[in-house]
Amino acid sequence: MRTALSSLELSQPESLGEALGMLADASAAPLTPLAGCTDVFVALNAGKLAARSFLDLSRLDELRGITTAGDRLVIGALATHGDIERSPEVRRRLPILAQAAGEVGGPQIRNRGTLGGNLATGSPAGDTLPVLAVAEATVVLRSVAGERRVPFADFYTGYRQTALRRDELIVAVEVGPLPGQGWFRKVGTRAAQAISKVVMAAVRGDTCRVAFGSVAATVVRVPRTEAALAVSLAAAQEALRGEITPIDDLRSTAAYRLRVAERLLARFWTETATT
Ligand SMILES: Cc1cc2nc3c(=O)[nH]c(=O)nc-3n(C[C@H](O)[C@H](O)[C@H](O)COP(=O)(O)OP(=O)(O)OC[C@H]3O[C@@H](n4cnc5c(N)ncnc54)[C@H](O)[C@@H]3O)c2cc1C
Repeated sequence: MRTALSSLELSQPESLGEALGMLADASAAPLTPLAGCTDVFVALNAGKLAARSFLDLSRLDELRGITTAGDRLVIGALATHGDIERSPEVRRRLPILAQAAGEVGGPQIRNRGTLGGNLATGSPAGDTLPVLAVAEATVVLRSVAGERRVPFADFYTGYRQTALRRDELIVAVEVGPLPGQGWFRKVGTRAAQAISKVVMAAVRGDTCRVAFGSVAATVVRVPRTEAALAVSLAAAQEALRGEITPIDDLRSTAAYRLRVAERLLARFWTETATT
């Protein structure tokens, strides 16, 4: 049965200050932020979202834009996947994020879906998230009480659970330079419109950073696998088998995901080898 949209309430603040005030005042009947709505509409239509009061972020120009601050890239929470894919600054400084954004859904989804929404939804299959994990991004949160800067490693607290409080918005994501060569690969049923079966991002420099999506309750870094790459690829694949816990679901089986993850690790290793 489809959701009765007429029973929903929408607050439309004109500025970030007004939005944060509305969130702070709404502790009795919490407001759910709305960015591109691509996840929210699916959840509403599936009857999986109890929320009835929403906060439309679309007029908050403070959350748009992709800028730089010294050697850091600052991406507004409302930057769409299309904005990120096309941004010359992202392509130059963090090409694996532009690549990941370019593989999210089809053009319609990329033109509406935002980085903030991808982060807040917290799907273990979110395509931008392994990149933010290996880039050791900082998630910038704001409430009427001020700003909090949360390292990506501390942002997820469980399956679709985040450190975000009800009175906070994600305002931006900040990323410094990658300490080595970046690598990204998404494995899905089709090139577009398909949620990942397995997604991996990695960096190869003096040490390695490796993160996977769709193999655990959240996107995960795999520190034992990273360390074992200093020994050999085989040692790292062995470590990986003990470090991720894929599940069987409608998109794939645990055994297939584990095998694909091992193969992606091997691809990363050969494709980033310096000759
Ligand atoms: C057909 C289809 C294909 C898709 N394919 C992919 C894919 O290939 N890869 C992928 O990763 N995702 C995919 N998605 C999921 C979705 O498009 C992304 O997760 C997108 O980035 C969500 O952004 P949004 O702006 O639409 O979020 P919304 O739906 O507006 O919001 C999602 C959640 O985030 C919260 N939120 C949004 N912005 C903020 C903020 N600034 N601060 C605090 N909370 C906030 C909302 O309250 C809500 O809980 C797909 C979705 C569909 C419908």
